[in-house]
Amino acid sequence: MKHQRKRQILCLCMAGIIAGSIGLTGCGNQVAQVHGDSTITEQQEETKVEVSVFAMDTFMKITAYGAQAEEAVKAAELEIERLDQLLSAGSADSEVGKLNQNGEGTCTADVAYLLERSLELNQATGGAFNVMMYPLMEEWGFVGDVYAVPSQETIDGLLPLTDVSNVFYDPEQRMVRFGKEGMKIDFGGIAKGYTSARIMEIFDQYDIVSGIVNLGGNVQVKGKKTDGTDWRVGIQNPEQEGKYLGILQVSDKAVITSGGYERFFEEDGVRYHHILNPETGKPARSGLSSVTIVSSDGTLADGLSTSLFVMGREKAEQYWREHSDEFEAVLVTEDGTLYLTEGLEPQFESKAGAVHVITQQK
Ligand code: ADP
Ligand code: MG
Repeated sequence: MKHQRKRQILCLCMAGIIAGSIGLTGCGNQVAQVHGDSTITEQQEETKVEVSVFAMDTFMKITAYGAQAEEAVKAAELEIERLDQLLSAGSADSEVGKLNQNGEGTCTADVAYLLERSLELNQATGGAFNVMMYPLMEEWGFVGDVYAVPSQETIDGLLPLTDVSNVFYDPEQRMVRFGKEGMKIDFGGIAKGYTSARIMEIFDQYDIVSGIVNLGGNVQVKGKKTDGTDWRVGIQNPEQEGKYLGILQVSDKAVITSGGYERFFEEDGVRYHHILNPETGKPARSGLSSVTIVSSDGTLADGLSTSLFVMGREKAEQYWREHSDEFEAVLVTEDGTLYLTEGLEPQFESKAGAVHVITQQK
């Protein structure tokens, strides 16, 4: 017997305002799915809830579709606030702020997780990823926006404080102790990726099968769009704000970018940005103007975007070859050339002409 199967999606426009934030709501797309030759008519609630938040020094937007979208977005917003309060190195009251003042302490689960992942990544990246750069971030004025180029003497004096081998961590007790006075943790290179990863877990708890978070240009998506197609995420042109070098089509992935254009100051015609090379204590000048990482692990994607930016193209390519099961990448060099790891080729639409594909075999 032949059945025709038809699914009707009932679009419920929620008009609610999410407390303490700008609530933007609207209808999801009408979706008709035909499965084989059987017909069942069913109704499904499809609510779109979207909220904008300012946290972690950045504008963030959370969007979820589903019957429990409102609850999911609210929980995500609370999670962002919670993590911001916990992780902010610039706040004396945060857990990280207190660790930095005391030079030791017991970590709660989130801080312990981030510290463990950061120490692992420091090893894996040969030191390019280093969460102990905060004393130098302060000296360069990236904390508090009082920019100044430090003297070589000052930099040399502070570099020993960034030595990760002086971080003593006991994972059983979750106890951390810094071996030198003045050492400070800064999760700025990984916190937003962890936050978007946490929001994906929250989406799961509320059965959200379609959603997206954008944390200041760092994006993570849940599932596909409600029309069944992939999400389209733009790769920003480092030279022109609001212009894209290309579009990536993704589902269930984080797409996280680090670029020298994101935060910088200029002195005597030289540009100094906020990603430091742990070897020199100065802004990394590796010939790259941005690095985008695509991975299902948001925390890793954020950590690696910073790390590969520090490494430069050749080392970044080699790192990908050794870890190609974990992530894909888009590298943009200072002359505007685009390099793409081969796994992304079918998903990438270039708006900037030719693209060089990085392959497993050199
Ligand atoms: P953004 O936060 O602008 O998206 P990143 O993810 O690259 O960009 O993070 C940059 C931040 O990471 C800096 O503001 C600083 O807090 C921290 N940081 C700077 N250099 C390093 C480094 N070599 N390793 C780890 N974190 C770093
Ligand atoms: Mg990062």
